[in-house]
Amino acid sequence: MSFVWGADNVAFLRKRHEALSAHPLFAGMDYSEDRQQIAQWAPLIMQNRPKGEPIAVTRSLMGTDVNFGALTRLLFSYLSGTKGCVLHTRHDVQDIRRDEDGQWRLKVRDLRENTDRIVRSRFVFIGGGGAALTLLQKTGIPQAQGVGGFPVSGQFLRCTNKALIARHRAKVYGKASVGAPPMSVPHLDTRMIDGKPALLFGPYAGFSTRFLKQGSLMDLPLSVRPGNIGPMLAVARDNWPLTKYLIQQVMQSQEDRIAALRDFIPDAKAEDWELVVAGQRVQIIKQDPKKGGVLQFGTEVIASDDGSVAALLGASPGASTAAPIMLNVLQKCFAAKMPEWTDRLKAMVPSFGQKLANNPALCQQQFDRTTKILGLTL
Ligand SMILES: Cc1cc2nc3c(=O)[nH]c(=O)nc-3n(C[C@H](O)[C@H](O)[C@H](O)COP(=O)(O)OP(=O)(O)OC[C@H]3O[C@@H](n4cnc5c(N)ncnc54)[C@H](O)[C@@H]3O)c2cc1C
Repeated sequence: MSFVWGADNVAFLRKRHEALSAHPLFAGMDYSEDRQQIAQWAPLIMQNRPKGEPIAVTRSLMGTDVNFGALTRLLFSYLSGTKGCVLHTRHDVQDIRRDEDGQWRLKVRDLRENTDRIVRSRFVFIGGGGAALTLLQKTGIPQAQGVGGFPVSGQFLRCTNKALIARHRAKVYGKASVGAPPMSVPHLDTRMIDGKPALLFGPYAGFSTRFLKQGSLMDLPLSVRPGNIGPMLAVARDNWPLTKYLIQQVMQSQEDRIAALRDFIPDAKAEDWELVVAGQRVQIIKQDPKKGGVLQFGTEVIASDDGSVAALLGASPGASTAAPIMLNVLQKCFAAKMPEWTDRLKAMVPSFGQKLANNPALCQQQFDRTTKILGLTL
């Protein structure tokens, strides 16, 4: 659901609904300014809300919550039992170099045994969350030059009151503040974690020089190179609204956070909520011929020309973006194999190679298929 308050925002949401509901990907999206209707969809946001304030909501029943940690464990427990797949956890990749024969040489430390070994490979995919930038820089490929990272941490308020959690079953998104990165849209979110419902509100942004939640404070300073210092300084110069937004966010007290929550739950009580640190995002900074450097809020695969190494950088390097990103990596790095692999890929992803946005019938067919496989009820 999208939820807005104030006359201007209501006018905006009405127009957005008109534009989007005509599109196959958003077909069936509901719109309402009716307080009783909204109270049925999301009772907590209407309880004790001041009368007279214009509000509006759009709602889509499609989709579901996915626990990507659980999904990853399932996938790897299957893969670990198949021929040719070996999984090593608690291993740290410390260096990546290219040998003269073109193969990649990785220095890997076994953190349990405290021993090092070398792994050689014709292809390397770097998926290290925020730390992917550090590993990409070690490869020395020209595409990595001029790329920098800007870490933003995310915090959420987690509800501790079971009765409150039970009364909300929706993902309700507001509108982002001016200057906020696009993924900072505040939301009141039901998440199912190991079969139990949880209620979260956020994110609140923070600043840390770490590239991973448990990373080192030296991650950001050590990523500065002669090639990316120019773009990084240009981004610092040109992004005053973002800097201002981050300063405001970092300076927030618990009372300020609860005040922001009350935009969504008017009678929220501080004692029902605790602050949790969710993780780090490392936004990409890239060279720009006009501005010197730009801050990108998206997610991007950076690959060598020969496709022998690819790294996934940016705001959302995994989870819901993972499947299209991997298809993109296959196309970028294994172009010669694609004719041979396409039938198999189509069996896994029947819409592979087609745009659902241009094909309403196929789009509906795919929604029906996934809804059935996932056992969802609308
Ligand atoms: C506040 C917040 C909210 C989010 N909400 C959503 C959402 O609603 N939906 C969504 O789809 N996504 C969301 N995301 C994004 C999503 O969480 C990430 O895209 C995803 O977790 C990235 O997964 P990953 O495995 O690529 O990276 P990570 O989860 O960051 O894991 C990286 C792993 O690489 C390891 N690693 C790093 N360096 C090395 C090395 N040198 N050697 C060996 N291992 C290494 C680390 O130890 C770590 O285990 C959110 C992110 C944040 C911060």
